[in-house]
Amino acid sequence: MPDIVQLLPENIANQIAAGEVIQRPASAVKELLENAVDAGATEIKLFVNDAGKALIQVIDNGHGMSETDARMCFERHATSKIKNIEDLFHIKTMGFRGEALASIAGVAQVELKTKKAEDITGTYIAIENSVVKMQQPVAVQQGTSISMKNLFFNVPARRNFLKSNASELRHIVDEFIRVAMAFPGIFFSLTSNGQQVFHLEKGTLKQRLVQILGNNYAAKLVSVQEETDYMNIYGFVGKPETAKKTRGDQYFFVNNRFIKSAYLNHAVMNAFSDMIAKDSFPMYTLFIDIDPSRLDINVHPTKQEIKFEDEKIIYAFVQSAVKHALAQFSVTPTLDFDLDIAIQQSDAVSKPFTDDKRSAATSSSLFKTFTQKHQAHFIESKSDLKRWGAELQVGSEELQAETQSGFDEHERKENSEYSLQPYQKKEDKKATGNNFIQLHNTFIIGENKNGFIAIHQQNAHERILYERFLNAIKGKPIATQRSLFPAAIELVTGDTVLLNELLDDLKLLGYLVEPFGNNTFVIQGSPADVVQGNEKATLEKMLDQYKHFSNDIKFNKREKLLRTLAWQQSVKAGTALDHKEMESLINDLFECEMPNCTPNGKPCYLEFKKDELDKMFGR
Ligand code: ADP
Ligand code: MG
Repeated sequence: MPDIVQLLPENIANQIAAGEVIQRPASAVKELLENAVDAGATEIKLFVNDAGKALIQVIDNGHGMSETDARMCFERHATSKIKNIEDLFHIKTMGFRGEALASIAGVAQVELKTKKAEDITGTYIAIENSVVKMQQPVAVQQGTSISMKNLFFNVPARRNFLKSNASELRHIVDEFIRVAMAFPGIFFSLTSNGQQVFHLEKGTLKQRLVQILGNNYAAKLVSVQEETDYMNIYGFVGKPETAKKTRGDQYFFVNNRFIKSAYLNHAVMNAFSDMIAKDSFPMYTLFIDIDPSRLDINVHPTKQEIKFEDEKIIYAFVQSAVKHALAQFSVTPTLDFDLDIAIQQSDAVSKPFTDDKRSAATSSSLFKTFTQKHQAHFIESKSDLKRWGAELQVGSEELQAETQSGFDEHERKENSEYSLQPYQKKEDKKATGNNFIQLHNTFIIGENKNGFIAIHQQNAHERILYERFLNAIKGKPIATQRSLFPAAIELVTGDTVLLNELLDDLKLLGYLVEPFGNNTFVIQGSPADVVQGNEKATLEKMLDQYKHFSNDIKFNKREKLLRTLAWQQSVKAGTALDHKEMESLINDLFECEMPNCTPNGKPCYLEFKKDELDKMFGR
């Protein structure tokens, strides 16, 4: 018998290795973008044709490679990023295994052009099936351009396995976004079949998120930031009202590397619990920086799972950081001035897309494979004053409009031991002194420590009543006053069932209602602090309103009842208030656990800071 064990030829070995590293065009995109980042580039341009099946090209202005390095980088295990096993525990770069380029060279037709700053000429290399076809000097700018054509041209089984262009492009965009989010200080663009899809000017993380996720997040991001010796966390979460019905804009990065972690996701969701409906998903983009030696580095770099030395610490930390951020925001509904001005000035808004370019882009089929939010250029210019207008309008939306937040104060208190810093004092927000005025019978304006606040009287009163009712349900029942002349109400059968379910809670809220048979109820008593005489109308209206909510499976019965009653009994916009009424409204509001917004997340008041106003007036 002859010996049968042989070494695999290099190209076959690379093709096999590629199976692990390069599963689809998007994985090559990720590797090439990460290499450009590692090379210290400040501008990275990605071009794809046919969803990367025909062409993937990345052009960067990073440090480039020497002639020798340019040849070497396609070898398996060729890397400049680690030298010994110890280095593995201090990895700060995105790549380190030296497999990506070797794999790519095994499954595509690759061309590399690269030049270091100090070299006069650059190097051009063409490589196919792991074999160098050509190498020669070339005149190029500093940096590197790598293009790979016809991915898997020599592995038909894999090529056939690729999905539709729309689907592969979706994957590419996902990878692009993950890298672009992690490095807001780098300019990124993505051009697909000659059409620029993203044009992301360098800026702050906040600007980058708005560029990527859409301008509707501009005033809806809550900053998360906590630092400890063990780890740091920073980033943004969307305000509760931006939670969506589909999981989507949720990003975790550990040391700038995108990861997927059901466990950490749970920590964030937990922090949001009761502020959003059970079946909705808040936006978050969170960065955890941690000593790499506290991570298990043996996890494959292309896999997005990660192992922490101590998961529980990380979980508690993430949860408390997010809770803390949300609590901060909830007592601080200030207008977001800085972002908008910054966006106005950033080139991403003013430069890249002319109107006709935009209409050409939107009519293309490519465009339709993206959702609007992924269009970098959908940021509309708005003047600062318009932004104020937009903010102020929030309060006048209908109650029945999509409502998703709602805060369980109790929960917040229970977990406040996690808080790392004291909450912002709500006393600082409260209108001080005695100088209130009511405008349009709707807004109450008053001076506070930092400037002035504008309170929306109906929103504020909804909050006050909601908390009062919540306390009643939780064990401080509202006193009932017996009616001298009990009123009867007759209902249709459906409503009878409904009211029967609510009787116990209504009692806690001060309404003593007894079934009388035949769809009839008798109102024996009503809350002591509500003027008697309207009980019947109140209950009927309450039921009516409640039914509006009842398709809304997000809330339990009790929550619906509280919200309904709070809305119904609140003093409406358009009602004139005297000075005493305004004063007690303000006092009651700032007695609330969460004075900032209605149970549905509409602001109760807006704060206009003096120093921001000064700035706007050019002072
Ligand atoms: P790794 O990134 O794990 O080191 P790669 O196969 O991705 O492995 O790249 C091999 C090497 O080629 C890198 O370590 C780096 O030195 C060099 N390289 C790759 N891409 C670039 C680039 N865009 N600019 C400069 N050097 C690069
Ligand atoms: Mg790499």
